[in-house]
Amino acid sequence: MNISLPARELFPILEHQINGRPLIYLDNAATTQKPLPVLDASRSYYESMNANIHRGTHALARAATEAYEAARKTVAAHLGAADAEELIFTSGCTDGINLAAQVLSSRLSPGDEIIISTLEHHSNIVPWQMACERTGAILRVIPCDESGVLDLAAYDQLLNERTKVVSVGWISNAFGTRHPVKEIVRRAKSFDAVVVIDAAQAIPHLAIDVHDLGCDMLAFSGHKVYAPTGIGALWGKRSLLESLPPYRGGGEMIKEVSFAGTTYNDIPFKYEAGTPNIEGAIALAAAIQFVQKVGLAAIQSHETTLIRAAEKELQAIDGIHLYGPSDRIGALSFRIEGVHAYDLGTFLDQMGVAVRTGHHCCQPLMARFGITGTIRASFALYNTLEEIAQFGESTRRAVKMLR
Ligand SMILES: *Cc1c(COP(=O)(O)O)cnc(C)c1O
Repeated sequence: MNISLPARELFPILEHQINGRPLIYLDNAATTQKPLPVLDASRSYYESMNANIHRGTHALARAATEAYEAARKTVAAHLGAADAEELIFTSGCTDGINLAAQVLSSRLSPGDEIIISTLEHHSNIVPWQMACERTGAILRVIPCDESGVLDLAAYDQLLNERTKVVSVGWISNAFGTRHPVKEIVRRAKSFDAVVVIDAAQAIPHLAIDVHDLGCDMLAFSGHKVYAPTGIGALWGKRSLLESLPPYRGGGEMIKEVSFAGTTYNDIPFKYEAGTPNIEGAIALAAAIQFVQKVGLAAIQSHETTLIRAAEKELQAIDGIHLYGPSDRIGALSFRIEGVHAYDLGTFLDQMGVAVRTGHHCCQPLMARFGITGTIRASFALYNTLEEIAQFGESTRRAVKMLR
């Protein structure tokens, strides 16, 4: 069955009224709303097969284990992974990057270097700073130009034999900049660095093929791609995952435990200590299947129409400043001279329009531009041109009142 966009009938929350007006949800880079197939998957898991996985001999435990492992296959295949064992379920993108940073720390010595970029989310900055504190490694940052585009010549200057890890986002959640990750990986590989990709904002908008990218690890959150919160995935190359130490200790990640010592389980279980988010994994697979059914090409074309329309609405405003390059994806960040971002956000909320104001978990990026924050409208497959027109009109009204 084909799903045609905007598919609003599949998203019950979109029927809500906010302050007596239809909800216009433009905060999708923070989290997306959930379609019926995902809500159904969560509910039917608890209604028909809830049990703990991998250990039970009884029928429900078998059914839950099968569904959880089938979900792993679905997500792994969506990323173009060689096999499902390379796919670790995490609690989200933050958890995935922390996992990567912690286990890769075992390979870092004082004076080694880690490269990130100016446009990273805090969750792709802080775990690496912590790795540096643990190991004596040094953090290096790829700068960006005035339009929020990474300076690859400066990246070349940073790369050297001491570069052990490069960890970059694919699409900036703050500005919508799409980074040339394949090229970033290619250059890192001439120095044998391990490359980690933060795909949190790529997963709802782009087709992903980890082999084509050539990266070593890639992390994302389910909730940014129409799945529940509390679930995400980290893909890693088999040889790398097998050679690295475990992350957290506990049940499931072991082969055998005695007080004399413990042998660790094979991947992916070595990295999944404790009872995982079983329902979340199953719902994530349902979300991925939903996206596949709609088709990423259709999603991208729909969202591009929306973002071009939103740019047009805003460009008509006197004193507008748009951040990021013109080929931005997913998010549109702006400021309006003489209007405080927070005041505009509050006014828009009264009009039923949900946008985000502030630093978007990218304080170093805001500092780079000498600002404390922006207003960000971000888009999903269920948004419509009518909503964009309403957003534009409400913004213009707000500016008249607030300036
Ligand atoms: C949301 C986001 C994260 C963090 O994801 P969590 O779901 O909060 O763990 C990391 N990087 C980017 C680019 C994001 O947009």
